[in-house]
Amino acid sequence: MNAAANTLLPGATLGILGGGQLGRMFAIAAKQLGYRVAVLEPAPDSPCGQVADIVIEAAYTDEAALRRLAAVSDAVTYEFENVDARAVELLEALGKPVHPSSAALRVTQDRILEKTFARENGIPVTDFAVVRSEDEARAVYQGKTFTGFLKTARGGYDGKGQARVNDGDECAAAARAMFAAGAHDLILEKLVPFEKEVSIVACRGRDGSFAAYPPAENAHVNNILDVSVLPARIPEESARAAVEIARKVGEGLSIVGTYCIELFLLPDGAIWFNEIAPRPHNSGHATIDACLCSQFEQQVRALCGLPLGSTALLRPAAMVNLVGDGNGDVLHGVEALLAEPDVALHLYGKAQAPKGRKMGHFTVLGGSGSSAEARAKELRGSLRWGV
Ligand code: AMP
Repeated sequence: MNAAANTLLPGATLGILGGGQLGRMFAIAAKQLGYRVAVLEPAPDSPCGQVADIVIEAAYTDEAALRRLAAVSDAVTYEFENVDARAVELLEALGKPVHPSSAALRVTQDRILEKTFARENGIPVTDFAVVRSEDEARAVYQGKTFTGFLKTARGGYDGKGQARVNDGDECAAAARAMFAAGAHDLILEKLVPFEKEVSIVACRGRDGSFAAYPPAENAHVNNILDVSVLPARIPEESARAAVEIARKVGEGLSIVGTYCIELFLLPDGAIWFNEIAPRPHNSGHATIDACLCSQFEQQVRALCGLPLGSTALLRPAAMVNLVGDGNGDVLHGVEALLAEPDVALHLYGKAQAPKGRKMGHFTVLGGSGSSAEARAKELRGSLRWGV
């Protein structure tokens, strides 16, 4: 069968594992193009479940539920990389197209495989070592001192499952705690003296076509993305290097769909690899309002075998995450924000806003990334969580 014959046309049903905000924005993009959406998610009233056509409320590992998702969907994707790779394998074994594949997912789920892939493919990455025991944790330092990040190879996100350590004793103690908490393999990475954190959202089509948005510049608070500026204020050469890394990763892992590479910009302009998200990314949310084709629409297009859309920025943008702070579930100040001409607000339909939960975001368009960022930070000051 040729690729065109496999194209899923509007009207088909797209399945998604995971019902969070990424699934919700995927579903909204899919529905804009006339597709139906089925979601598998254990939590009731999930952000994606609220907009999907079919909701299968079950654990991601529930085989009967996975079979049902396969039965109702023409193709399947997922919205977070910690989904059990065996679930994706089962869908594949049932003959359902799943993108990105379980093979790509397995690499991106494991920091050791991911960084080894980068190193083997000539992508600049910090020095790292695998740590499988307390003794190994101490031995990596060989009596030396340097700042490292000890991380669980699997399962960590938003800074969870990692510790900053400075010598063999600290590393061994951190390793002991991680093993006690159930971790298997750990990775010790040398600290990267970065100037900025940037990311690049890209998409690869089923035919190998490739599209990348301009890199985004990211600032975190408490390990959670706070503000993302598109395009990143980095040298052109560095932006080109970021695109090349995205291309190499997409080709090397045969990714089909939208994915993101988190990167470090060094003071000399070099770009180093940090990690891959095999799905749309928080730092790409501004593409919904700043581009004709968002990162979510790209995911739909890639999954369906359609041509990828334009990644050109219509205007520079800054995105601010709206994160719960535990002071209440109602966002106050929305009226004033919506009175602004260059602002788009996205709320994810989550009923509770505990501290640290991503509840929504807003994007400000501007004449430059810097002016959009300044305005976005000002506007954020007039919003607060309350009862
Ligand atoms: P990660 O989960 O690997 O993205 O790490 C979360 C955050 O910790 C990153 O966004 C960085 O701010 C910081 N970080 C992680 N690894 C390193 C490293 N090797 N050098 C410097 N900072 C790091």
